[in-house]
Amino acid sequence: MKHVIAIDIGGTKTIGSLFDENKNILEEKRFPTNPKAGPDNLLNALFNVIDELVSKYEVDCISVGSAGRININDGSVFFASDNIPGWTGVKIKEILEERYHILTVVENDCKVAGYGEEWNGAAQGLDNYICITLGTGVGAAVKAEGKMIHGSHYSAGELGHIILHPNGRQCNCGLKGCVEQYCSGTALTKIYNEKSDSKIETGYDYFERVKAKEPLALEVLADFVDDLFNVILTLTNSYDPDRIIIGGGLIDTREYWWDQLMEKIAASPISKLFQVDVVPAALGSKAGIYGAAYLGFKTPQEQ
Ligand SMILES: [Zn+2]
Repeated sequence: MKHVIAIDIGGTKTIGSLFDENKNILEEKRFPTNPKAGPDNLLNALFNVIDELVSKYEVDCISVGSAGRININDGSVFFASDNIPGWTGVKIKEILEERYHILTVVENDCKVAGYGEEWNGAAQGLDNYICITLGTGVGAAVKAEGKMIHGSHYSAGELGHIILHPNGRQCNCGLKGCVEQYCSGTALTKIYNEKSDSKIETGYDYFERVKAKEPLALEVLADFVDDLFNVILTLTNSYDPDRIIIGGGLIDTREYWWDQLMEKIAASPISKLFQVDVVPAALGSKAGIYGAAYLGFKTPQEQ
């Protein structure tokens, strides 16, 4: 029986899960992370979760999902934004293989979430799907004609930086009006604060106001639904997928906006032309861990 350590490096914690081939999680370790503290903070979190798991099991592969544009050939970070200072250029695969002498694979966290949905969720058996992650940032996994698309610079699926509103809100990538500045959890809180006198700090606080049906909170949410609908239109016209799966932290709040989104899609001409099926992610926040495991199990056979 093969074993894989699947790792999801997150904004607040790094999770490492030990999987067997039957999709069972035998053990799980968590370690707090603070990406703003620099690369050593994240690497230490990786070492902490892996040290404990390798001491107990014979492991065939370590598979890591990380934010940033990942060079899947050498397992290094091709580019990471200022959200993770110093992460660009970090040779994750080389560092882990030197320390543990275990085959290591690294992939972008949103693409890994797509693999998770493919292995055990809403994308099973599909050759054409897009899995959108709406979290602190926005990203996507695009599988087209049976292949996960990476592009020439590992940047395909960087949906968060498609321009949604020309000359709109300033993005940390240098452009203005990016999807990420309108459709992420961070953006909703920011926009709400700008339109009101509030200084709420978290998406949780914002959705408390939505829940209380505060008019301004609902207005911000209606704009979010319009924006997300436009993103879905762009993706549908670009790739013509069988299914668009929406995941990430924001999907946990869908009781407040999903029906509105479905109504917009149903009333749109694209619903007749493409018959695209838009569904919530089946695995929720577990998609990344399952996807990393899937990648880990399929890698040794292919290389
Ligand atoms: Zn941007």
